Amino acid sequence: MTGRVLVVNCGSSSLKYRLVDVAAGEALAWGLAERVGQPSGRLTHSRPGRPPDVVEQPLPDHAEALAAALAAFQRRGPALADAGLVAVAHRVVHGGDRFSAPVLVDDAVLRAIRELATLAPLHNPVNAVGIEVARRTFPGLPHVAVFDTAFHATLPPSAYTYAVPPQWAHDHGVRRYGFHGTSHAFVSRAAAEFLGRPVAEVNSVVLHLGNGASATAVAGGRSVDTSMGMTPLEGLVMGTRSGDVDPAVVAHLHRVAGLGPEEVDRALNSSSGMLALAGSNDLREVHRRIADGDDAAALALEVFCHRLRKYVGAYLAVLGRTDAIAFTGGIGENDPVVRARSLAGLERLGIRLDEERNAAREPGARRVSADDSPVAVLVVPTDEELEMARQTVALLDGHQRDEGRPGSQ
Ligand code: ADP
Repeated sequence: MTGRVLVVNCGSSSLKYRLVDVAAGEALAWGLAERVGQPSGRLTHSRPGRPPDVVEQPLPDHAEALAAALAAFQRRGPALADAGLVAVAHRVVHGGDRFSAPVLVDDAVLRAIRELATLAPLHNPVNAVGIEVARRTFPGLPHVAVFDTAFHATLPPSAYTYAVPPQWAHDHGVRRYGFHGTSHAFVSRAAAEFLGRPVAEVNSVVLHLGNGASATAVAGGRSVDTSMGMTPLEGLVMGTRSGDVDPAVVAHLHRVAGLGPEEVDRALNSSSGMLALAGSNDLREVHRRIADGDDAAALALEVFCHRLRKYVGAYLAVLGRTDAIAFTGGIGENDPVVRARSLAGLERLGIRLDEERNAAREPGARRVSADDSPVAVLVVPTDEELEMARQTVALLDGHQRDEGRPGSQ
């Protein structure tokens, strides 16, 4: 696996990029364009060991944001023309049941990504814009779409089927898809590597806890259950998303408060979760408020950890035998209180944290459970961009091999 890949991740008002050297497993440069489409924008371009280059300038659309990023590469390096770029990888949130692996982008794939906007109206259209813009900018390079849902293509029907009228699934795609797949794939593999065992032999529960949060049960490298559903709203309590609620809430609020479904949907996605309960979607601020005696913040953290513990228990049952629980994402990697609280009382299920290890702040993958804990509890920093770059190079290598085969075109 060699080559350098430019990884692009377009959000509604942002564009993140990272130039990844796949063989070294390293980022050579990365950046963030913020407030795209707003009157004032900012581009921050970073390279290892150097101060970031920050430019404040309006970024009217994603094409301008990418142009600003390219200008930063030119100004501050590394020079993209000499970087040995082999492809551009694009994060796409929803692949529906059309895409179960990364694909080379052509016009038909781009059309399909746009059609899947019915399932991810906030994400897929802007992901498609990013691909379009980058294809125009780098017409000579292969562009690869990497889907957040793809790792969960192995979910069995018992896990992905909602108990609703079957024509909803058939006609409208109503089923569980799961998200954060690139992270769950990377972390479950890294957890097996950490344990020094083949990934095919390891069962793990991966807890990706960032602004969005999801839990996945991974059996032998395959996702067998996951907490996010048809959209990234279901499951754990998140920064601004409610996670699980009774779906009857939607009709109830319509009847008693006159709220429309769009309004409730927006509230469940953008003004619920920790933001609603604690007044902040940043766990660091929630801890500060708790230290200041804020009861609402204390309850919010309890709700967060209780939900997490429920999913851990559920996935221990789904897996039957669990070798590792792996925490990742901004909260999972950095918050010892969340790790301790969400696993407290699970000793009889084979989970014993080591207090000192859990409290230690160390970089890299590490064990935070006691040596005699039957289930290893690990902290595994995720690297979604590296995983996307790896999958991209693996796809291109596969294509090259196919093209070299007799009878292929
Ligand atoms: P995203 O989902 O946007 O990629 P991250 O994985 O970076 O987000 O996670 C962001 C969240 O991580 C922040 O909102 C914050 O709550 C949490 N976080 C970051 N650092 C810490 C820390 N030291 N302690 C607790 N929480 C943290």
